[in-house]
Amino acid sequence: MPSRRTFIKTTAAGGTCLLLNPFGKAVSGGGSNPIRIYHASISIDALKKDPDLADILAGAGVKCVWTACFFQGSWHHTIEEVLEWNKFIEKKGMQVAQITIPLGHPSFTSSAPDYMPPVAVDIWKPGMRPDGRTYYGVSLHEGATRQNVEAVKKIKTTDPGIIFLDDDFRLAPSPADIGGCFCPIHQKAFLESHGYSEAQWGIC
Ligand SMILES: [Zn+2]
Repeated sequence: MPSRRTFIKTTAAGGTCLLLNPFGKAVSGGGSNPIRIYHASISIDALKKDPDLADILAGAGVKCVWTACFFQGSWHHTIEEVLEWNKFIEKKGMQVAQITIPLGHPSFTSSAPDYMPPVAVDIWKPGMRPDGRTYYGVSLHEGATRQNVEAVKKIKTTDPGIIFLDDDFRLAPSPADIGGCFCPIHQKAFLESHGYSEAQWGIC
């Protein structure tokens, strides 16, 4: 078991250093010491349910709290609510930032995942794998793109500092799948943009 001194020295050599004060909180290092800054991603609902949660985070040395109000095509909290909770978090001495999941989480079936409300399913058309099977969750179709652009514009009004667009830019149901959408709309767009004829589709 390495001593704390050895541990700190080793992690500093590795590129980051956690500095501890007598109460065990993470604190900023100065000079040439790199520091580790803690962020927490917490839902507004969790903050509502546990009035002590923000104090616990601040006490643990968290410097920035990320909440989410829009993801997978639907609003889970209004802008007014975000502003209210931002103020609450900032009063606890932490910064605020926003996360969205713009293109949805992948699913592996042609039925819509339970986290997608009916309205999103109408606008967010299913994607298509190279073998023709359809899937919901990750969508690059026009409706989804427009909805996400509008959402980011609205979120920007809360002055979040940073808006983190969560993963799923891979545009495939899984890492093992070839990414992209092979539906007739995207097939046509691909052929036209590269000057190929329809007859060339599928020839390799
Ligand atoms: Zn498509």
